[in-house]
Amino acid sequence: MFCWYQLSLLQSTVMKRALFLGRFQPYHKGHQSVVERIAKEVDEIIIAIGSAQWSHDLKNPFTAGERIMMITRALEDLPNVKYVLPIEDIQRNPLYVSHIVSLTPLFDVVYTNNPLVKELFSNAGFKVRSTPLAERHQYSGTYIRQQLLEDENWRGLVPEGVAHIIDEIDGVERYRRISHQDTAIPFPME
Ligand code: NAP
Repeated sequence: MFCWYQLSLLQSTVMKRALFLGRFQPYHKGHQSVVERIAKEVDEIIIAIGSAQWSHDLKNPFTAGERIMMITRALEDLPNVKYVLPIEDIQRNPLYVSHIVSLTPLFDVVYTNNPLVKELFSNAGFKVRSTPLAERHQYSGTYIRQQLLEDENWRGLVPEGVAHIIDEIDGVERYRRISHQDTAIPFPME
């Protein structure tokens, strides 16, 4: 008798489909190079936007909808990326994998560098692959958020389409306003 994780593995033997999970606050060129690498290894990619319920704070300035716009715009030339989906956090880590599975198309491999995410998906029987980000001193959400505050250097660190969305939503001004209100989280913050 198969458990449903094994069944999902069997069903996806024809089409190799990967899940790439992150907060993407904001989506940057480091994430983009990871997606381009994953695209060479699988047929389809699901990008899951974690912590979807959070926005308008120092660590999570952008809404899930805005992050969907950023990623969709940045990846419009990459046909392997078929789905970009928001996933809210839940209180109980042991249920997180089934929470994701219930909200996404079937997948058989997970790309992440987050130790907790690796642990949860490995325990559930999924293949997990590491995704080291290159040039972390600059391709880092924390660093880019700091640059947003100064309105300096951030444009070169995100795909052009993401910069357009940040301009469209007046993201720099919003982040400055948030930084004046939200003193609970000091820099540096992951
Ligand atoms: P994260 O906690 O948002 O990011 C942690 C660090 O890992 C950040 O410095 C991030 O950099 C970096 N990072 C992100 N993607 C990376 C990659 N591909 N390679 C190397 N480093 C990377 O974690 P996350 O992995 O981006 O996202 C995991 C999501 O799963 C979060 O939304 C988390 O809340 C969710 N989650 C929820 C539960 C639950 O609800 N119970 C349990 C586990 C995980 P950047 O800022 O530059 O991206």
